Parts: sequence; structure tokens; C-alpha cells
Amino acid sequence: MSILSEPGRIARGLRFRLTLIYVAFFSVLLALVGIFFVAIVRTNLDSQVRQLLDDEWVAVRGFLRIERVAGIVSPHWYFDRDDPDESLAVSRLRRVDLITDDEGRVLEVSQTYRSLGIDSPSQISSIFRQASRSQKPVWDVRTAAGGVPYLIRYGVLSQSINRKHRGFVIAIGRSLAENNQFVAKLRRNYFTALPALVFLCGLMGWFVSSRALAPVKQLAGAAARISTTNLRQPIPERGAGDELDHLIQTFNNMMERLADSFDQIRQFSTDVSHELRTPITAVRGQLEVALFTAETTDQYREAIATALEDVERLGQIVRALLLLSRAESGQLALQIVSLDLSAVVRDTVEQFEIPAESSGLQLEVDLPETCPAEVDRIQIERLVSNLLSNAVKYTPPGGCITVSLRSEGDSIRLAVKDTGQGIPPEDIPHIFDRFYRVQSADPEKGLGLGLSFVAWIVKAHNGRVLVDSELGKGTEFRVLLPVTQPVRPVPAVLADSGQGG
Ligand code: ADP
Repeated sequence: MSILSEPGRIARGLRFRLTLIYVAFFSVLLALVGIFFVAIVRTNLDSQVRQLLDDEWVAVRGFLRIERVAGIVSPHWYFDRDDPDESLAVSRLRRVDLITDDEGRVLEVSQTYRSLGIDSPSQISSIFRQASRSQKPVWDVRTAAGGVPYLIRYGVLSQSINRKHRGFVIAIGRSLAENNQFVAKLRRNYFTALPALVFLCGLMGWFVSSRALAPVKQLAGAAARISTTNLRQPIPERGAGDELDHLIQTFNNMMERLADSFDQIRQFSTDVSHELRTPITAVRGQLEVALFTAETTDQYREAIATALEDVERLGQIVRALLLLSRAESGQLALQIVSLDLSAVVRDTVEQFEIPAESSGLQLEVDLPETCPAEVDRIQIERLVSNLLSNAVKYTPPGGCITVSLRSEGDSIRLAVKDTGQGIPPEDIPHIFDRFYRVQSADPEKGLGLGLSFVAWIVKAHNGRVLVDSELGKGTEFRVLLPVTQPVRPVPAVLADSGQGG
């Protein structure tokens, strides 16, 4: 049962968070776009009004003359009063206008301009100087009493009537009220529609993220359906070659490796139960026979002795398995020491002199005086002893076993060669597997674990083991070990021990 409630689960979901990021991003973006858009519209509208005032200035220059009549300087508008267009144009020009001389003496002012406040003489003088110098109009925004803003264009009419007047300042203006209303309406409409836009973006984000996350959901579903029985059923790739396909590939590879491990474990359990069942059944059989049929003490003694042999064999298997599983799981760390490998091999071979002799075998050694190496003494002894015991087991009387050691540059070559029965070529790839025994081998002769140990020991020492065998002629196991070991020996894993034939 899920510990999160449904809304809590949704709120913590990736889809919800992606949508939230999407919405936040688009809210900010749309708000910025709105602000920018309104600013651009306002600038455009204002520049239209400026353009209109520039055009009107040209008209002013056409219609207006400032003249001195009877000693009085005053503006005169010349236009055809019978022409309605001209009359309308001039009345428009004079709706918001101010005409002064260069010192600010007002010659004409419209009612509307008066409501904006007539400029002081000092302001007019400064505008006159500024406009005369730059040959450009001066702009200003003024607000009328009712709060209506006006854009005012000041221009200079350079007309010298007498010495007193160097020119005149003419201001014309237009209301910006309509523009401002339009911009305000635009802003209001845009920002009213914004929540709806953001909501739409949210919907889109929800849709897009659910599409993007669909394969992840699919992957989770497929992963949930996996059990130990269908580990090898891969999740189909989408063929998009994207990150999700890569994730599916990685996941499938991981499942493949898991399946291999499961197979190994299954195989191991089967092997172990099989190997243990045989001696247990034998012991049970012997004891039953003894119980029901034995009559004399000797018969009992014999039955118990045979049962003990089998129990001993059981003990051997269990001990070997424990050791092997500790080795494979990396719990058996190597104790690497510098030693004379020649002496170690010699000592181990000596232990086989009696068994070899009793099996009618000749045991020869070809060892250098000394052979310094960095190895784990106990494991190397076990390795030599396993190879030698196999050689003794599988070589018929009259045969010969040779143990040799050579130092070859950075590596050491240890070989155990016999003139025994040999190993069939098809069995060679399997002889290092746990419990593997060649079919023809006498089941009483071994547990099928000796070479598994050899493989692990070689691997743990970063070495290699090679097998050369010919049926009826003999077998040679060659072990190649590096003279020195890395500071930290690699964890020993039995997989692919590098054996070859
Ligand atoms: P076992 O305990 O049965 O000897 P090993 O793992 O040591 O198990 O060996 C696996 C099998 O490889 C043996 O059953 C045997 O058939 C074969 N084998 C190993 N060494 C030799 C050898 N020197 N000559 C012939 N066969 C060998």
C-alpha cells in the first residue's frame, strides 16, 4: 500500500513538477512579452503623433507670417477662407498653439494651450537657444488641468522683423489621451487574458511531460512485471536512439547479467543438492543394510566404516564448497608475501612422493635454485597440490609426472605434466566449472572442485592457466603468474579464468 495519498503522490510526481516549471517559465515569459509589447505599441503611437506634429509644423510655416503692422508685431495666418480644407487645417493648427518672440513675449496663445500653462520667458529663451543651435525641434509632454497629456513641439521661426526680434518660438501640440487610453486598454486586456494563457500553457506542459514520461512509465511497468522466471525478457527499445533508449539498453543489460547470476545460483544449488544427495543416500543405505541384515560385530564394523568414508566425503564436499563460496564472494583475501616459489613447490611435491610411488608413478621436478615471487603461500600450495593430485589420479601406473618452474621476465611459468589418460577436447572448456567431471572419470576419484580452486587462485593472482591435453598421451597444465602483485590484490572472482586448450 502506498504511504502517500493520491494528491500527495501527484504533487511529488515528476510530471507535476515538470508542468510547474513549465507554467512558471511561461508566466514570467508571457508577462515580460506583455510589458515589452505594450512599451513598443506606446513608442509607435507616440512616434506617430510626433510625425503628425512634424507635418503640422510644415503647414504652420506655410500659413503663418509674423508681420509688423502699424508698429505692432503680430502673427497672421494666410489661407483661403472659402476653402473648407484650409480653414479646417488652420483651425486645427491653432487649437493648441503658442506663438512668442525669442524673449517669451506671447503673440498668440490658444485656449487649450493656456490651460497647459504658458511657458515663462526664461523657458522660451532657453528653448529658442536650444532649437536654434541644434536646428531640431524641442519636445515636451505637458498635462492639462483635466489630466489630459499633450505632446508639445517647439520650433523656431527665424524671421528678423526688427533688431529686437531674432526669431519666434512656435509651439504646437496634440493630445496623447487617445494613445494612452488605447495602451491602457491593451495592457488591461493582455493581463486579463494572461491567466488563461498560463492555464493553457499548464495544460500543454502536462500533456508534453506526460508524453515525454510515457516511456519511463512503460519501463517502470515492465520492471514491475519482472520476476525470477522472466529475467531474460528484454524491454523493447523504442528505436528513437535517445536517452530513454539508452536507459532501456542499460536496464536490459543489467537484467541479462542478473539472469546469468540467477542461473549460476540455480545451477550451484542443483549441483550441491545432487552432490550431497549421493553420499547421503549411500550412508543411509549402508546403515539400513547393517541394521536389518548385519549379525556379527565385524559386519556392523564394516558397515559403519564404509558409512564413515562417505560421511568423510560429505565433509570434504561441504568444506570445499564453503571455501569456494568464500573465495568467490571475495571474503577470502589473499595474503601476499615475498617468498621463494621454488622452495614452496619443492615442499608440496615432496608430499606427493609417497602417493606417486604407491601408484607406480615416477615424479620428476625441474625447479630453479630459487625463484622469488609475491604470492599467497597457502593458495599456491593448494594450486600445486590440486594439479598434482589430479595428475596422480588420472595417470595409470608406469606413467611419469613432471613439475617444472621457470622465470620468464615479469612472469613465472609453473607446469604440471603427466603421461596419463588425457582429457577429451570437448570437456576441456568445462573442466574448471564446479562439480564438472569428465564422463569417463571414476566418480570415486574426485569432487569436481579441484580445478575450480585452481582457476580462482590463478585469477586472484592476476595470472592465467592453460591446458594442453591429448587423449591417451597425457595432460599439461601451465600456470602463468606475474612475479609481483599490485599493492591491493583484485577481488577474486571465479568468472572466466582465462583457461585455454
Ligand atoms: P576432480 O576432483 O574430479 O579431479 P577437478 O576439478 O580437479 O575435479 O577436475 C575436473 C575433471 O578434469 C576431472 O574429473 C578429470 O576428468 C579432468 N582432469 C583434471 N586433471 C586431469 C589430468 N591431469 N588428466 C586427466 N584428466 C584430468
